[in-house]
Amino acid sequence: MRDLERRVWVATFAAVLLFAVFEVLKTILFPNISLTNSHIMTVIVAGVTTFFVSRYALSRYGEALKLVERQTVMTEETNRLLSAVLATMREGVLIVDSQMRILLYNDAAARIMRLPSGELSPSSSPLYSAPQSSRPPRLVDATRDPAINAAFRSAVEDRTAVETRVETADREARSFQLNVAPLSRDLAVGVFFDISQLERLERVRREFFANLSHELRTPLTAILAYAETLMGGAIDDVENNARFIEKLYKHAARMNELISDISDLAAIESGKVKLATGPVRLRSVVSEVIALAEARHSDCGIAFSVSVPDDLFVMADLTRLEQILYNLIDNAIKFNKSGGSVTITAKEEGSTVRIDVEDTGAGIADADLPRVFERLYRADKSRSRKIEGTGLGLAIVKHLVQAHGGEVYAASEPGRGSRFTFTLPSAKGHPQRETNSPALSGAEK
Ligand code: ATP
Ligand code: MG
Repeated sequence: MRDLERRVWVATFAAVLLFAVFEVLKTILFPNISLTNSHIMTVIVAGVTTFFVSRYALSRYGEALKLVERQTVMTEETNRLLSAVLATMREGVLIVDSQMRILLYNDAAARIMRLPSGELSPSSSPLYSAPQSSRPPRLVDATRDPAINAAFRSAVEDRTAVETRVETADREARSFQLNVAPLSRDLAVGVFFDISQLERLERVRREFFANLSHELRTPLTAILAYAETLMGGAIDDVENNARFIEKLYKHAARMNELISDISDLAAIESGKVKLATGPVRLRSVVSEVIALAEARHSDCGIAFSVSVPDDLFVMADLTRLEQILYNLIDNAIKFNKSGGSVTITAKEEGSTVRIDVEDTGAGIADADLPRVFERLYRADKSRSRKIEGTGLGLAIVKHLVQAHGGEVYAASEPGRGSRFTFTLPSAKGHPQRETNSPALSGAEK
């Protein structure tokens, strides 16, 4: 625009100059011209010059208008793009001014703080900015968290970038890393990165190693103690030496079992275990696994009830399916009450088969329920320690079911029992064969 103004001034000046030159030339060339003719000539030349200057100015103005139009379209396009990016971002974004008023935020930020979403749609304004009509919300009204307020204030006032960790105390507590940076014109932009999942994984990893060292130390301490006793002379104690060696063996076997479970789990998780899937008659596998589990818990006194249609086939790796069922049934017996029962039901649901293993045990507390599939996690530590196990069974079940393309989940009513449900692809439409389980030697875990 400034350029256009300058050009028009230059053109006007040139026209005045031209006009002056014309006047001089007129006096030299036509010294005797009458006043009327002189005026007529002046009017004609002035008219022609004004016409050309105006035309020039108008054409320049038209070009400038087109440029402005193009720029407006581009700005709108950029704003739309920015709005779309902001709206789809998982990170919360928030811009405040020097008065700590929120000028702009996206949906993710609205979910983190008490800010209206929806009404500020990207189509109604270029970004999720506060409507012109209403006063922008204040940061302190959106969140009372002193850490968030302090971070923005320090970015606005001290013009320094701030990095801090904040937590939301709503239904599901979530933690965020908040990065606030100063922007031009006394503004500051804050970005909230959700780090809850990362922190959860980190906690699971820490607990896994703590549990692992505990699980290994217990049998190892016993092995060392028995070995020392034997070396200290008990080897010649004919009455007790066999018993000590038996204990030594039992603890070494437990360690061996734990380590082979962990490497099995690692192999399943990394996808190294290849599944030999085929149609498997579910009912026969359930019956055989129950027989094996009953033999292992000979005096458990648990009643079994099976409701699995005879003609129900699933697409599964037979040995791995036995392993899944054994772990669930083993738990349903171990964590049951005396005289309790275990019910196994299966039914086809579209292209999948849903299998439920239900027990009448003590159940699982709400806080433990989402964690029972974690490696080495044992709910109700004091009770679980009395019951044999390492806490790997369900982790193995979860990964095996997922490797089959199914899902597994648990539900429980503390004090009344638990239900573990998993799904497998149905073998409907595949040529079916009768499966005869091998000796189920590897069924445990
Ligand atoms: P492992 O299976 O390695 O022998 P475990 O049975 O203790 O040991 P998981 O099968 O992984 O380990 O189960 C994890 C925890 O979940 C158990 O320690 C127990 O606290 C809880 N749990 C599992 N199944 C049940 C159930 N049917 N009823 C109540 N609690 C259960
Ligand atoms: Mg188990």
